This record gives sequence, structure tokens and C-alpha cells, in this order.
Amino acid sequence: MKFNLKKKPRIFSVGFDKSFNVKDYGKINVDHTDKEFELLTFSNKKKDYDFGITNWGYYATPSINKRLRNNGYQTFLVKNIYNNIFIMVVDDNKLTKFKKYIEFENQKILSRLDLFENEDDFIKKLILSNKTGRHCKNLKCLNNHKNIHEIFKYIKKPPNEPNYGIKNYKRKVVKCQNCNHFFAIHKINTNKFYKENYSIISHGKNILKKFNKIKKLKSQSDNFHRVNRFLNFFKKYENKKISLLDVGSGLSIFLDAIKNKVKWKLIGIEPDINFVKFGRETLGLNIIHSNLNVKKLNNKKFEIISLNKVAEHIKNPILFLKQCNNLLKKNGYIYIEVPDGLTASKQKKAKYQEEFAIDHLHVFSLDSLNNSLNSSGFKVILIDKIKEKSGKFTLYAFARKIK
Ligand SMILES: [Zn+2]
Repeated sequence: MKFNLKKKPRIFSVGFDKSFNVKDYGKINVDHTDKEFELLTFSNKKKDYDFGITNWGYYATPSINKRLRNNGYQTFLVKNIYNNIFIMVVDDNKLTKFKKYIEFENQKILSRLDLFENEDDFIKKLILSNKTGRHCKNLKCLNNHKNIHEIFKYIKKPPNEPNYGIKNYKRKVVKCQNCNHFFAIHKINTNKFYKENYSIISHGKNILKKFNKIKKLKSQSDNFHRVNRFLNFFKKYENKKISLLDVGSGLSIFLDAIKNKVKWKLIGIEPDINFVKFGRETLGLNIIHSNLNVKKLNNKKFEIISLNKVAEHIKNPILFLKQCNNLLKKNGYIYIEVPDGLTASKQKKAKYQEEFAIDHLHVFSLDSLNNSLNSSGFKVILIDKIKEKSGKFTLYAFARKIK
């Protein structure tokens, strides 16, 4: 083997919200045609981990149930949200750190490998967590009462919530223990909000003032980073003939920020007339005044659909995502952003986190967002959880239409 190590490691970030730095120290070149097998040992406080290089490939680990176990390591077969699998060798003394990492990265331990005794026993135990698949299809979790737990109960408007003038303020938030999706339970008609004066209650009378305030924030605004990750993902399409539909375009701050950066045809669709007028008259954008509606869109199909904090307001997000899927051309993309309920629920005053506001009928987890997209004919390309500049905990995903 030939060592080809860097004096200064290359540093890059991985994991959700790029939370972990990796230092890349370079390469060791090996030759699989060599007659001799080669060995390389990593040592940490006398705990050794051998890596074997053979003329046919690698021994990825020493014997899992003998040498590794005797050296104080447990070995797990782990799956991530994209269904990629890994073998992880865990220091006996660092199990808590490992579990924390697995939880943060939303990974699932499929099996523990170092307890292997014989084949029959192994097959029986192979998939540890068969029963907790985290796979609730079509968000039908509410039907499975065993998994549903009440999380928060409200009898009056939380102090930081806009006043929608609701007379009988009674609502609950429940959570599916399987996929960690949160459901709002109440009889309040939130649909009314959007048609009447949602824009005024949630954004104030002067839409332009609010718009300028956000624009002035520049890199301190959520929209700045949204536009960056969006354009970064679609970089190779910037100059192509593309049509984009932004569903629930609201203040139009997203469409306005990308309009000079791409050569695409941009269309917004929005139920609130004040927002529509503002987008059309002040920003010169093409905004349709409607809920998502095929007829109003003249049966047009799009290459990209964006949903910025919209799906959580919809009664049936699966149906909604399927409608979006139908509006996409073959192999079209969807960009979706929703509140991250699981992370919000772990905060100190979780009950009053804005992720659980009254107008959110659904609050997602990585698993429930992933499952929802899979259930609606999409393949997830990239999914992440982030903390935004505004303090919001958010999930986003880019997915491609496959059905
Ligand atoms: Zn569920």
C-alpha cells in the first residue's frame, strides 16, 4: 500500500443541517492484484480495529462477534432515511453518543451483529425493529389508536399567536408514536382564514412594508437561504426553458427573489386576494387567484412545483401532494418545506412553539414527510432538517415525480 496523506486535511460538512465536520486526510492506494494480503490497524486507547486488504477486495471488519467484541466494540446494521445501509462499529463506552447520533440523523438500527451464535438464531433476530417500521402510509395514523398519543391541549390562544377572533378556542395536538407525525384535533374552520383576511392578520395591513422588512434582512432572512438551496439544487437548469408553479405564493417573496436569477416562466397561485393583488400590481408577477385547481391552471403542466410552508395548512396533504404530482410533467420536481414537529416538540416551551400554531393541521417529522412523498408518487432526492434564521424548525425535501 502507498500512503498519500494530506498535510492539511480537507474539511467538509455532513449530516442533517450539516451538523458534523469531516476532516479528510487523504488516500492509501492499494493494489488488489498483489499476492500478499495487507493489514492496517486503527488504534484508540489500545482498542484496535483492523482493516484487511486482500487480492479480491476488503475485510471491512475483523470478526464481529469475536475480535471486535473482545476489543470492546458492538456492531450494528443501520439504515438511513434514503434506505442506504451501513455497518457501524460502536465503542462500548460510547453507546449513549451513538444512540444520540442515530436519533439526530433519523437512522434506524436494523440489527445487532456481534451477538451472532448460529444461522437459525441470526435469521430470527435479523430485523430487530420489525414492529416499529416508522412507515405509516398515506398519513392514516389516526386510525391506529394504539399509536396516537395526546401531546398538547389548548383552551385559549397562546400569547404569541395572531388573533383570528376564534370564539370557542379548544384544540389538541396528537402524535403518532410510529412515524412521529403530529395532527391537530379541533372543530375550528381554519380554511376560512385564507379566504378572508389571513394576509392582514398574519402580515399586517401594509403588505409592502412587511415585504420590504423581509427583503432588508438579506442573509438574515429565511427566504434568502431558501432561495440559495433551491437555486443550488436546480443550478444546471437555470438557463433552460422551465416553468415553475409556486403553490400558496403568499407575499411572493420567493418568486420575486428568483425572478431575475433564472430564465424560467414563473407562476404563483394563491387564495388570498390581498396577496394576489400585491404580487401582480406591485411586483409584476403572474399570480393566479385560487386554491390549487387544475381548471384555473388551464390544464398546464410544470417542470417544478414549490410548496413553501403550505402542506401543513391542508386538511389532506396526501391528496394535495397527489394533485401536485398530476400537475408536474414527467420526471418533474417538487420542492417542499414544512414545520419540523419532532424537533419543535423537544424544545423547552414546546407547546407554544409556532410549529404547533392553530393554522397547522399537520406538523411533520422526517419520516412522515418522507412517507408522504413516497405515498404520492415521488422519490425523495434530498431531505434535511434545519433551524432557520427566524428560529423556526423546518424540514425540506426535493423529490422527483416517478409515477
Ligand atoms: Zn404514523
